[in-house]
Amino acid sequence: MDYLKNYINGTYCEAISGAWIDNYNPSTGAVYAQIPDADNKDIDAAYKAAQAAFPSWSTATIETRSRVLLKIADLIEVNLDSLAEAEARDNGKPLSLAKAVDIPRASANFRFFGNAITQFASEAHESVGLNTMNYTLRQPIGVVGCISPWNLPLYLFTWKIAPALAAGNCVVAKPSEVTPMTAYLLGEICTEAGLPPGVLNIVHGTGPSAGQAIVAHPNIKAISFTGGTETGAHIARTAAPMFKKLSLELGGKNPNLIFADCNYEKMLSVTVKSSFANQGQICLCGSRIYVEETIYEEFKKDFIAKVSALKVGNPFDDDTNIGALVSKPHMEKVQSYIKIAQEEGGSILYGGAPVTVAGSENGYYLQPTIIEIKDNGCRVNQEEIFGPVVTIMPFKTETEALELANGVKYGLSATLWTSNIDRTMRLSAQIQAGIVWVNTWLNRDLRTPFGGVKQSGVGREGGFEALKFFTEAKNVCISYDADI
Ligand code: NDP
Repeated sequence: MDYLKNYINGTYCEAISGAWIDNYNPSTGAVYAQIPDADNKDIDAAYKAAQAAFPSWSTATIETRSRVLLKIADLIEVNLDSLAEAEARDNGKPLSLAKAVDIPRASANFRFFGNAITQFASEAHESVGLNTMNYTLRQPIGVVGCISPWNLPLYLFTWKIAPALAAGNCVVAKPSEVTPMTAYLLGEICTEAGLPPGVLNIVHGTGPSAGQAIVAHPNIKAISFTGGTETGAHIARTAAPMFKKLSLELGGKNPNLIFADCNYEKMLSVTVKSSFANQGQICLCGSRIYVEETIYEEFKKDFIAKVSALKVGNPFDDDTNIGALVSKPHMEKVQSYIKIAQEEGGSILYGGAPVTVAGSENGYYLQPTIIEIKDNGCRVNQEEIFGPVVTIMPFKTETEALELANGVKYGLSATLWTSNIDRTMRLSAQIQAGIVWVNTWLNRDLRTPFGGVKQSGVGREGGFEALKFFTEAKNVCISYDADI
């Protein structure tokens, strides 16, 4: 049994209360670790360490901060195999995916922001004729809170921490209690990279206790949160009256619009990924598939054939495409939606049932599931399921496709499959989403803005947007005497 610890002031420690929470391996259903059940006392200790480290970290040269972040990136790469194994065990995702995507991306986050901070500049505005010069200082905020979800554990944890640290803040961070392992291991890496004690503090515990204590702490001045829409609303209710800066990256129910004029083979193979990668547990998965009527039957047949060839299995098997869902409660939630779909008159075209994996009989495995729906407004097509479940329905015209795509409360991302450039331009402008992919999916350049509209979030992260979020802009106006 592993005992994870909080990482506060550069050292590992238990929760002050001495309480622990079970941590499950979703591919076997067994408890394999204990994590500290931190509460507001631990968060306050983390805050105090961060506050003490702030004067020195916030005034360290850009080169110093950059060097430490790049070293963390290097060490994540060096530890790729062990981190990927830890991620697969903790989350249930295929080891191959953790090795190819999650861990390299965590390293890329530190590398990107370690470099970006050296290029981050502020503006100057000369008021010609008034003899004044304005310049903008972009100063670190102080101690900030970062809270991340379980689906891409180290990837999303570092997506927040790296820009916060690069900009000169000190951080109190909490990973999901469901997937704490790689965040725990990150502490050691930060120490080895020479990150001064207290600059980053990683606290484990539940959302309502440790998470809430971060959000409600009177001196933690900004919160970057990625997670569900309901949790985001709850966080906003606490943080807004305290006038905290807030970045909320929330749920999605993303449309995948497929037109008959697309590159069919490419669309088909990418659509399998955008539907079921990471067991469908990516906020950017295209969970609502709309297909132009003229190719609908052909698509259905080919899509089912490809999806039925996916192997659901132990995350550590090389040929596994779909691993375990992250937890028992989550598996039950996803299954409840499959039942709702049937009650609502949806047809299960493929999947829908749990899978028993030999040697891992108590793991949380579910078939990839395709549900044909008739009504865009049905619950299974409106509510975020966040599992290996997609809906499909046909459309006749571009106008109808746009209406269907926009007919949900979410607006995170959308994918468009067409070779018509006019249609691409029209729809990209009119789709209500923070991100539109055309003839591709999950293609990320870290310089680009990332975030959602409607109930998918508030604010943008990524590139200089993240560095702007993690700094306060201050205008300095200097009047000068123009006469010699
Ligand atoms: P949750 O909202 O349940 O949890 C997210 C994080 O918030 C966890 O660390 C959780 O802790 C913590 N938390 C829970 N309650 C509180 C609270 N009251 N105060 C402070 N923190 C709290 O989301 P999930 O972990 O279930 O993640 C899935 C969701 O995340 C989906 O809706 C998905 O769409 C969204 N997501 C959005 C992304 C985006 O970029 N827009 C990217 C990835 C996911 P704990 O787990 O310990 O309870």
